[in-house]
Amino acid sequence: MKRLLVTNDDGIGSPGLLALAEVLTDLGEVIIVAPDRERSAASHAVTLHKPLRVEPAAVPISGVRAYITNGTPADCVVLGALAVIAGKPDLVASGINGGPNLGDDVTYSGTVAGAREGAIVGAPAFAVSVAGDEVTDYSFAARFSRRLAERVLATGLPADVFLNVNIPDLPPEQIEGAELTRLGRRRWDERLVKRQDPRGRDYYWLVGEPNHDGSASGSDVAAVLAGSISITPAHMDLTSHSSIAELAELTTDLL
Ligand code: MN
Repeated sequence: MKRLLVTNDDGIGSPGLLALAEVLTDLGEVIIVAPDRERSAASHAVTLHKPLRVEPAAVPISGVRAYITNGTPADCVVLGALAVIAGKPDLVASGINGGPNLGDDVTYSGTVAGAREGAIVGAPAFAVSVAGDEVTDYSFAARFSRRLAERVLATGLPADVFLNVNIPDLPPEQIEGAELTRLGRRRWDERLVKRQDPRGRDYYWLVGEPNHDGSASGSDVAAVLAGSISITPAHMDLTSHSSIAELAELTTDLL
């Protein structure tokens, strides 16, 4: 029986996580290892300086084993693979996140880090997000995730590659299709607010409005703005390969 490890960064109680776990029960044994609280924007942090706990959790899905941890999404995948499953999962699925993980978001996303850690432990992995502001319905995203999981289980993924999936928050009949994309740009404007606390000390809050650039065709941002599901194959290798030649003079007489 296939072992499917499910995690997220919105925490154990999030409806997207439960929707994802439930649809995957058709495909094998589903094991949830999820953070005990929201860890959105935890990126790929791992916990090195305090004990990690893994406790059984009750979820309203029959046949699913669920655990909470005090760690990050990346910790959850490590704990799931090494402590709970004690072996390589057949699939790691991270999500379903409530909100987009497009372009620059990928750097900060705990959801994406869950899938990236899946690739690190050697499992086929994907992250899935619904690209909406106030997501209330995960049913279509869950059904799509199940189809994608089935495909990935059958065919595998290239080594060190994982998938970052974003699904428009639209009624199913308005979804245009699914396409393979590259990461676009999604920056945050006016991202810092400075205020004073009741004791007169300054504090800062990271906020802001996302600034999509949907003009770059083939990007994840453009696909979702056009109503398509975006699937970005992402690689562990952050090297800018073209820059190795382009920056050749950087090292000339540098010593
Ligand atoms: Mn999140």
